[in-house]
Amino acid sequence: MSPIPQEHIQKIIFQGINLTDDCLGVFDDKDMLVFCNENLARLFGLPIEKALNKYFDEIIRHCHAAPGGINIETDDIEQWIIDANQKRRSQCFRAFETDLKDGRWVLVTEQLVEDQHIFMYCSDITDKKKYEFEIKKKSEELFTLATTDSLTQTYTRRHFYQQAERELSRCHREDITCALLMIDLDYFKKINDQYGHAGGDKALEHFSKGIRQQLREHDLVGRLGGEEFAILLPGTDKSTSIQIAERLRSTTEENTVSYRGTSFNISVSIGIAISSNNCKTIDQIMCLADNNLYKAKANGRNQFYHSNA
Ligand code: GH3
Ligand code: MG
Ligand code: MG
Repeated sequence: MSPIPQEHIQKIIFQGINLTDDCLGVFDDKDMLVFCNENLARLFGLPIEKALNKYFDEIIRHCHAAPGGINIETDDIEQWIIDANQKRRSQCFRAFETDLKDGRWVLVTEQLVEDQHIFMYCSDITDKKKYEFEIKKKSEELFTLATTDSLTQTYTRRHFYQQAERELSRCHREDITCALLMIDLDYFKKINDQYGHAGGDKALEHFSKGIRQQLREHDLVGRLGGEEFAILLPGTDKSTSIQIAERLRSTTEENTVSYRGTSFNISVSIGIAISSNNCKTIDQIMCLADNNLYKAKANGRNQFYHSNA
């Protein structure tokens, strides 16, 4: 049997290239697209005859404005092209993921071949990306479940401790003070007795929503357990923490809880502690705030108490 002529094999390969779902093409040393299949042209938002013999920058400018193809998100396409050109021949092989305007994703590879030519090969990775996004979403949901109390949307005790520890050491390094408010709802057992457990839950929800609205984004709020909460206020000194505690106390007292057609009032007692050289670990500051909370309770409740370490 005589060998199949090379031209015949090449013809078959060229046919195959247009049948594959993948995209491939060759840019010459001047960055002109000298060969591509229909899929690559489509990726650039062009029919094959318009894509061929165009330079990379022309193709990209077209693609940026075209309704289909690669999604090039930039307000400055010229700068985008400068950045891309810097990367293009910087390595023998480059691979990156990019999305298309129709929502699909492709993995683009650029292989530097003979005479500074670039062989570009792209494959569809939409399913892989979908899976990745789902995993990311699920792990974020799991993280929220593990770190956030579902009733009050405040941090769980464990997560609060971890975050507070980090914040405290940051503030200590930067030589700024932190305030910790330990808050306990007053006579909560009576609320449960009078309105049932669901009424008590409603009060907890109402209270935590109220305090979160009054705090800054970087303040940490945690539910330590039952009807006891802790707030860490980074960069807050004694006088400011007293103002904040009084505001939280008075608004809690004023904002009635609505529950099943009735309404009732709640109040809180607050122990305040400020970080210092004598009181800088999370355990020390929590202990001081807890002692001060105990004093606020002993002094008659619905008030705050502050003392130095
Ligand atoms: P004090 O002013 O001294 O703090 O009195 P108190 O009644 O609030 O104090 P205590 O700590 O003895 O009671 C807290 C009550 O909170 C007891 C418990 O049944 C109730 N509790 C704990 N967790 C929850 C919860 O998730 N929901 C509801 N509804 N009640 C809870
Ligand atoms: Mg209580
Ligand atoms: Mg309690």
